[in-house]
Amino acid sequence: MIDVAWAKGDGIGPEIMSAVRFILNQAKAPINWHEVEIGEQVYLKGFKTGIDPKTWDILRDKPFLKAPITTPQGGGFKSLNVTIRGAFNLFANVRPCTAYSPFVHTKHPDMNVVIIRENEEDLYSGIEYRQTPDVCHSVKLISRQGSRRIVRYAFEYAQQNNRKKVTCFTKDNIMKFSDGLFHQVFEEVAKEYPDIESEHWIVDIGAAKLADTPENFDVVVLPNLYGDILSDVAAQISGSVGMAGSANIGDHGAMFEAIHGSAPRRAGQNVANPSGLLNGAILMLIHIGLTELATTIENAWLKTIEDGIHTYDIFEEGTSKEKVGTKEFAEAIAARLGQTPSRLPLANHTKKQAHSTQFKDVHDPIKRELQGVDVYVHSPLAAQPFIEKLNLKARGKMELKLITNRGVVIWPEGQPETFCIEQYRLRFVCSSCDLKEIASLLMTLDSEGLDVIKCENLYTFDGAPGYSHAQI
Ligand code: NAD
Repeated sequence: MIDVAWAKGDGIGPEIMSAVRFILNQAKAPINWHEVEIGEQVYLKGFKTGIDPKTWDILRDKPFLKAPITTPQGGGFKSLNVTIRGAFNLFANVRPCTAYSPFVHTKHPDMNVVIIRENEEDLYSGIEYRQTPDVCHSVKLISRQGSRRIVRYAFEYAQQNNRKKVTCFTKDNIMKFSDGLFHQVFEEVAKEYPDIESEHWIVDIGAAKLADTPENFDVVVLPNLYGDILSDVAAQISGSVGMAGSANIGDHGAMFEAIHGSAPRRAGQNVANPSGLLNGAILMLIHIGLTELATTIENAWLKTIEDGIHTYDIFEEGTSKEKVGTKEFAEAIAARLGQTPSRLPLANHTKKQAHSTQFKDVHDPIKRELQGVDVYVHSPLAAQPFIEKLNLKARGKMELKLITNRGVVIWPEGQPETFCIEQYRLRFVCSSCDLKEIASLLMTLDSEGLDVIKCENLYTFDGAPGYSHAQI
């Protein structure tokens, strides 16, 4: 027997979870179920992350099958998914998006794409600041280690699942450092898998191509935010957002779920489609090595879809035969255990899903040199009076090189039309300076009456600048 933690979730969660556990139990899944309480009720008890600290011990070292939960609006509540992914280091999010045409309507009958999304970094690392009353800042954090791990995972997944191509999307024409690093790592890792085709697209045109001709894509690997958005797009255009499951994989745990949310408006009516959570559960069975059972359940589900027994969200006059509720849909699947579809491709899971690959990141020592500092200042003044009031001379070794507003240079050159907000960036450069000089500069600026709100050191790495040049 295998220990599995599960949570019934909120909204439609309890109904779809009950349907999925019914199917697994009917299929005699050798599972010891351990229920955990998470979600809306736990949030409302005052736990800001939606999880009671006592629950961590139950979740530890067990696969976790989780129904969607409702995150209460406002009040400083933190996403439970983000918390669990971070706590257990679930760095890879895997979402297969497949068309089931002609039984489920889609404009893309040949679509069979797996979206692999980095799950912990990017704008989801939760590093955000309100710097002035009217200016907020979210940090987009991309690391070489995080990028290598997810890109390597995507190629391993492709190899183990007989996939032919891995595509990467980034916006490195604009975010040259963060997305640039992700793209660079993709190119490096791709060389280690010469039998798998690799390609890179800028995310905007890549997203347009994915939505228009998804049949041209196979495995797609993306940083967190693009992956979040595009996996929903991919699931929706494959047929219904109610159909796709998702796996969150890490070195110390794994969580499986539907990609949709708790759909509160559909709750308690026995109408929700349990397919997304069932597909999440099938990914879990593959992950824990119960591949034969996963195959049996998926084939029974495909046969049910093929027989036209459909929940409201995929029901279509002419194609569907019977509109059923959540419970009846689950019973129809259980009744077909042992049967196989005759027109849809047969499920045949013989290989485990890619697991995390440990690697040591080796590179030659890099020489890092301090070159200056960007000092952010809060000022309600317009650009011209701000510049006129400022002492433009050097402070010690620290020489004022430029002033920008929202990244656009306003001094020494600038355009009168540039729209400015209440946050200015002063770039000071130096040769052979150290942190003491930066500290002293900050004290001086403060004594001059400037409202310093943040500073960011400027380094070169082996002589190459590690900071963006300002836009003129
Ligand atoms: P949602 O995915 O819950 O629902 C959007 C719409 O999609 C529903 O109104 C319904 O028409 C349809 N739908 C979704 N799942 C369906 C299913 N299984 N069967 C039939 N129809 C289905 O998105 P939302 O309304 O934006 O979010 C509702 C709540 O879910 C929010 O509190 C949100 O925070 C939460 N949420 C949770 C998760 C999670 O726990 N993993 C993920 C996304 C959203």
